[in-house]
Amino acid sequence: MKQILVVANQKGGVGKTTTAINLAASLAQMDKHVLLVDMDPQGNASSGIGVDITQLETSSWDWLMSEATFDDVVQHPDCGVDVVPSNSDLTAAEVDLLGAEDRTHRLRDRLENAGDYDYTIIDCPPSLNVLTVNALMASTGVLVPMQCEYFALEGLTSLLNTLDRIRSNGNQQLRTEGILRTMYDPRNSLTNMVSRELFEYFGDLVYRTVIPRNVRLAEAPSHGQPINLYDRLAKGSVAYMALANEVLRRHTVHAQSKVN
Ligand code: ATP
Ligand code: MG
Repeated sequence: MKQILVVANQKGGVGKTTTAINLAASLAQMDKHVLLVDMDPQGNASSGIGVDITQLETSSWDWLMSEATFDDVVQHPDCGVDVVPSNSDLTAAEVDLLGAEDRTHRLRDRLENAGDYDYTIIDCPPSLNVLTVNALMASTGVLVPMQCEYFALEGLTSLLNTLDRIRSNGNQQLRTEGILRTMYDPRNSLTNMVSRELFEYFGDLVYRTVIPRNVRLAEAPSHGQPINLYDRLAKGSVAYMALANEVLRRHTVHAQSKVN
């Protein structure tokens, strides 16, 4: 089954974009056909994966708001992931969409004509605005990156409540894929405490894979490369490959459980 995974958390700077880029690139390295859709006007996922967002003739705004087709907007950077890039133009879409009848499912409709991808990964802005709602309405699953910090659990509960509301307002198929611990530092006792609480409250929803704090992951976007091209052997690269494996494994188990 085709998977459309949204990487979301309304909290800023938790590793959404780093996860979107590197999960997409790791899945592509495993011979999956992958599309990355940037729904954040900051455009970090686009530039971080090698698209020059200062030179875009068309972007996600055109795809969502004008006659532009998927082929008009899709880019093909070197890493093997196709990208619908965004830039600050997308900020206007938040207002432009307000009056539209289909304002919450515009992206879902566009993705129906977006080519035959095994995995579509959507990067979101750090808020639960109409762009994030469009992403959640279009998706089969949500992946939630979080840092194991003091206020993290509170934010998580409000995000999970939002997911329930999305389910009851039109996207019943939306699964909570998993909670991903990012910038993980096992030497920090708060990290360990929050991590334990996560397992207590959310059990199997927590990915076994953790993404360590790794400076190579922070450097890679400035070279426009995912970590598997920038430094294949870095700890961060190995961790994102492990995450891609865990994501695939969970989908296989889920598909089997539906058959049985
Ligand atoms: P925003 O909410 O602004 O969209 P975000 O949730 O997308 O932020 P990122 O941009 O992925 O977060 O990460 C925030 C910062 O932390 C970036 O500078 C990124 O390079 C760095 N970073 C992310 N993950 C790691 C990591 N595992 N190790 C070290 N640095 C990281
Ligand atoms: Mg981001």
